[in-house]
Amino acid sequence: MAKKTHHLHYFIEGLLKESNAHLLTMVPPDEKGDKPTPDEIRAYFQSLKDLGHIKFPFTPLCEGFSPITGCPGHDIPVADEE
Ligand SMILES: [Zn+2]
Repeated sequence: MAKKTHHLHYFIEGLLKESNAHLLTMVPPDEKGDKPTPDEIRAYFQSLKDLGHIKFPFTPLCEGFSPITGCPGHDIPVADEE
């Protein structure tokens, strides 16, 4: 029997209220080791919200993620049954 897994997501509304320190932990530095400022991160989420997005993926690996309904669910290989 096929099993499905769902990825977690953030709510953009909640991200906009996050502390500066927490926002910084969410964004990895680029190749040069630079990070955007909390204001820049917040502006990015605000721009997504302006587009009507509600959710933001917890992981970039979520294929088919919907900014409205979130993770579509993914089939996972059936592991050894207990
Ligand atoms: Zn997913």
